[in-house]
Amino acid sequence: MIKLDGFSSIFVANWKLNGNLNFINQFFHQIQIPKDISKCIVICPTSIYLDILSKKKKNFFIGAQNVSQYEGGAYTGEISSNSLRDLKIDFCIVGHSERRQIFYEKNNDINLKSSQLIKDKIVPIICVGETFKEKEKGKTNEVLENQLKECIPDSSNSTNTIIAYEPVWAIGTGLTPSLGEIETTHKFIRENNKKFNNFKILYGGSVKSSNSKGIVALTNVDGALIGGASLKLEEFQKIIKD
Ligand code: PEP
Repeated sequence: MIKLDGFSSIFVANWKLNGNLNFINQFFHQIQIPKDISKCIVICPTSIYLDILSKKKKNFFIGAQNVSQYEGGAYTGEISSNSLRDLKIDFCIVGHSERRQIFYEKNNDINLKSSQLIKDKIVPIICVGETFKEKEKGKTNEVLENQLKECIPDSSNSTNTIIAYEPVWAIGTGLTPSLGEIETTHKFIRENNKKFNNFKILYGGSVKSSNSKGIVALTNVDGALIGGASLKLEEFQKIIKD
């Protein structure tokens, strides 16, 4: 298992269902990963390219975007955490809002997936966040509290699990909470359970080069989960350099 406590900041690129071989070759031909090894850079391509990226990895890490909650068996189309381990994958995003909304993943599925990953020494990056409707109704903390309680498995601790706060309404929209709101919510998450005190907590939702520095500098923010901007080499380069 990767040692998380040695990292001062963690930047996770979620490529979603984007990027082909040509894109990957260009990206890694041009990108300059910072020499500062306290910065952890994680690239999450579609599953089909995990092996290729794993063979390219030098000063960055590879993450999957999803995993099966099952260890093996008659589950056509699924990918197990032990097969990710075979490919030397160190991280996996779990419970992204797109998986919750489009593929109907429930908190309990996310809990089971995260348990599988921890068992196979892969760090789950567990996503939580409220919808715009929930925010408007003042339910953000209630929603987060419930997601944290139901998604984070008992086997999780600060050495094997990362939490990502991703307000659903901020993903891919260009909207972000204010810096004050991000800090308050991250503090709420950290203090929600004693065991989260030393967790790495990332922020995700419309992070770009013009706002990343301010967000990552917040006391309770340990890095960022980046979607759209991670596909634009110049943008991503600036974000991880700051
Ligand atoms: C994401 O996919 O997790 C994400 C935060 O996307 P974006 O940065 O495009 O909002």
